[in-house]
Amino acid sequence: MTESSIFTRILEGEIPAEIVAETENVFAIRDIAPQAPVHLLVIPKTGEYRSVVELASHDPALLAEVIALAHTVATEHADGDFRLVFNTGAGAGQTVFHVHAHVLAGDLDEKSLNA
Ligand code: AMP
Repeated sequence: MTESSIFTRILEGEIPAEIVAETENVFAIRDIAPQAPVHLLVIPKTGEYRSVVELASHDPALLAEVIALAHTVATEHADGDFRLVFNTGAGAGQTVFHVHAHVLAGDLDEKSLNA
């Protein structure tokens, strides 16, 4: 059995975090190390997909739910405009291999594409 990801442990209440939104299949938390005025993570409850590539190919409807909740939280926590980042692979900065979307919003630097 593979070890639960940090996000599964948050969802199960083993690690404290503020869950800011939740649907049947997806939840959102504040990133512990924010890189933008609003920096939230939107995460499928299932930990079976390591990356957005796996999620898109196996369950595109669940990917659409991730994007819908990203829009919802960007509207609730900022003006509705947002940048969505999926770090994919260690070389791109992915550290948690339970797919998650970074929702960056607020007063973003227009030129920067960095998370
Ligand atoms: P990534 O590097 O794309 O895999 O993103 C993982 C993100 O999870 C990073 O931005 C971390 O700051 C964030 N993170 C790690 N641990 C926690 C935690 N306990 N609560 C909230 N965010 C976390």
